[in-house]
Amino acid sequence: DQGLQKTKESFLSKITKVIAGKSTVDEEVLDNLEEALVGADVGIDTTIQIIKRIEKRVAKDKYVGTSELGKLLQEEIAEVLVDAPDQSYRNFDVPAGKKPYVILIVGVNGVGKTTTIGKLAHNYKKAGKEVILGAADTFRAAAVDQLTIWSERVGVPIVKQAMGSDPGAVAFDTVQSAVAKGSDVVIIDTAGRLHNKAHLMEELGKIKRVIKKVIPDAPHEVLLVLDGSTGQNALEQAKQFTATTEVSALAITKLDGTAKGGVVLAIANQLQIPVKYIGVGEKIDDLLIFDKHEFVDSLFK
Ligand code: GDP
Repeated sequence: DQGLQKTKESFLSKITKVIAGKSTVDEEVLDNLEEALVGADVGIDTTIQIIKRIEKRVAKDKYVGTSELGKLLQEEIAEVLVDAPDQSYRNFDVPAGKKPYVILIVGVNGVGKTTTIGKLAHNYKKAGKEVILGAADTFRAAAVDQLTIWSERVGVPIVKQAMGSDPGAVAFDTVQSAVAKGSDVVIIDTAGRLHNKAHLMEELGKIKRVIKKVIPDAPHEVLLVLDGSTGQNALEQAKQFTATTEVSALAITKLDGTAKGGVVLAIANQLQIPVKYIGVGEKIDDLLIFDKHEFVDSLFK
């Protein structure tokens, strides 16, 4: 968890101060904890939930001991996050009966969508899966170019069409091609311009409908990519996006080099959508599987 260094340092120093020499949950601990969590970008709503959980669990002024107190905080923080119903993503497995497994990637431009697709493709390939990419962000030439570079880097095929062509047509071609080839995983990039919400909603809706023409229960995953280094703005963006289209999982990028990693807790808690991946760098291997206990654990170490 190298990549989370800055978040850890900032969080840990705050938490350490909160529990130093403390062995009971008193008003001071709760106040300081609240301040530490908000200061670590956990956000006020999620922080209040965590504080309430702790208050409920431990009667005030009851002796618990310093290390117990640390452990208790960790547990209660982890508990405000949702788990993914299907855990097969952890090993880059395809859930039973869902081949090809179709993942639609959504998010605002610049958050790291293309990079995340490259990393995911690499991991699925490493796990022995046949992957195919679809370049359905047909509005930006750079998006198609970047995705092409990633497809070459990873060594997986890509389906694309001319700039400005219909994104739905690209998605359709990609899924059809996957079925024809017997591919395991399909990862489709989409355009992400939030300035025109109605248009975005319509376009993503169309892509989903077109995919369903080939595979009725697809897309199996709609993965929203968010830039964690923007802190609370990432949460706002996520709220806007989930109001536009149904999202089933989250990937939070750029957690390397930021002290705002606490926002992962805010986002996962406020949206009640599981975080599955975190991005901790620009390289192909800089994608981590998110585990709420490990994440919270690492913040305390
Ligand atoms: P897109 O516009 O959403 O497709 O974003 P890109 O994938 O092109 O990424 C935008 C920039 O963010 C690029 O310079 C990436 O190298 C960088 N980037 C993506 N993910 C990460 C990450 O986890 N950490 C860091 N430090 N940079 C990242």
